Amino acid sequence: MTRVLFWLALVFLVLFAIRSKIRGMQQRARAQQQQRPNPFTPPVRPQELPDAELMLCCAHCGVYYPASENVQAKGHDYCSHAHATL
Ligand SMILES: [Zn+2]
Repeated sequence: MTRVLFWLALVFLVLFAIRSKIRGMQQRARAQQQQRPNPFTPPVRPQELPDAELMLCCAHCGVYYPASENVQAKGHDYCSHAHATL
């Protein structure tokens, strides 16, 4: 009879250990899921990035260049002084 009780106690101990191990793994997985950002949310754009600059097309060569480098001559936009004089 004591042998049966011993084996029953051993089985209960093993089952309890397995259950607590599974519970710990679930809690760890849940904690990792909360730390990980949602892959479906768009990435936050950094505020330091400047807005895109307006691009203009050169009347001579057709190259697009930033509007800050614009050279105007005879009512047209050029990418450089060399193209404005041509
Ligand atoms: Zn040009």
